[in-house]
Amino acid sequence: MTVAYLGLGANLGDARQTLKDAVVCLAQQHPLTVLAKSSLYRTAPIDAGGDDYYNCAVKLDTPLSVRQLLALCQRIEHHFGRERPFRNAPRTLDIDILLFGDHEIDEPDLVVPHPRMTGRAFALVPLVEIDAELVIPRLGPASAFLPAVAGQRIEKVKPPCQCLGAGAPPGDPTAGECR
Ligand code: ADP
Ligand code: MG
Repeated sequence: MTVAYLGLGANLGDARQTLKDAVVCLAQQHPLTVLAKSSLYRTAPIDAGGDDYYNCAVKLDTPLSVRQLLALCQRIEHHFGRERPFRNAPRTLDIDILLFGDHEIDEPDLVVPHPRMTGRAFALVPLVEIDAELVIPRLGPASAFLPAVAGQRIEKVKPPCQCLGAGAPPGDPTAGECR
């Protein structure tokens, strides 16, 4: 079994709903167990045009190989209508393998740890939220890279909780908030 971290992003269509559905979809896959998910974040596009992105990260445990996990992520991207008309194009769903245990892979079509994760707040901030002590193989604590991305716009999306909050009077302190 390997503990892996995925970064999810979307900025086409109902991006926020797509991310929620994608996490549910991941959790329903038999060969993996979702251990944790981050909050949802709204972020500025980087090296790309288009609307703001929604991003989150997921921690999972799986007996799959990293190649099998990549294939599964790509199948889920495809299921949610992912197309690749050009590099960094707006996307209905992007799922990247950020970390796969302490594996280091450098192949033409698979690089892990993900090479751009330390320079992107949209990958780093949700990851550190899940696991504040996370260590990136060869690079050290993930949190050490946060100051360098502090200038990138990222805000946590905090929807009112639909289960506990529904029907509660405004300002009721017992009304919870969903992640
Ligand atoms: P982006 O780099 O913006 O995520 P894509 O999602 O279109 O772009 O991915 C392009 C290619 O990146 C994929 O076909 C995949 O083979 C490759 N790739 C390399 N490393 C990774 C990784 N760690 N996770 C996911 N895809 C990866
Ligand atoms: Mg990708």
